[in-house]
Amino acid sequence: MKIIKNSGNSYKPAPHSKKQKRNSARNTPFDAESAEAVRAAAGKDAVGIVQIMAKRKDISEIEIARRTKLDIHHVRKILYMLHSNSLADYRKARDNGNGTYFSYWTFNRANAEQLFMRLHQERLQQTRKRLEEEAESQGFYICPDACTRAEFATAVQQSFKCGECGQLLSHEDNTRTIDFLREKVREMEAVSA
Ligand SMILES: [Zn+2]
Repeated sequence: MKIIKNSGNSYKPAPHSKKQKRNSARNTPFDAESAEAVRAAAGKDAVGIVQIMAKRKDISEIEIARRTKLDIHHVRKILYMLHSNSLADYRKARDNGNGTYFSYWTFNRANAEQLFMRLHQERLQQTRKRLEEEAESQGFYICPDACTRAEFATAVQQSFKCGECGQLLSHEDNTRTIDFLREKVREMEAVSA
């Protein structure tokens, strides 16, 4: 028995999925895959930082801050976050001028690719599970205001009324959702192959 709340991220077949597919084409390993892993590990500002590191090894934190136009403290925080996720290595070196230490950073591309594959496998498992659930169900019962999406057994228990707002639930044919998920699983399997 299950009520899935519609929180806006339901798997409606995306009308622009073809276009999106083209835009996210994996031309280079960094752009799509590593960037995603980097974002998951250290936030969106980390992507810009790693884009610079991907072009040059052993780059100083000052140089990274200058090029990204981000605050040095913010840059450092992100760099250490990358490091704690094994996505960046560093060495410390003394600045001859005034004796302060600076760190020099190198992106660990191999680990980023590994992390991406791990995230990808997790998502693939989730999508497969979702597809299984959709395929096994006999469609869902949904509220006209989209607050509830219930399986048949739950809908019967609630006398086909929305548990949130009381409106009558209507049957939703999930064939398109199943097709969409099946296609999604196929695409994802092609990446992991
Ligand atoms: Zn409702």
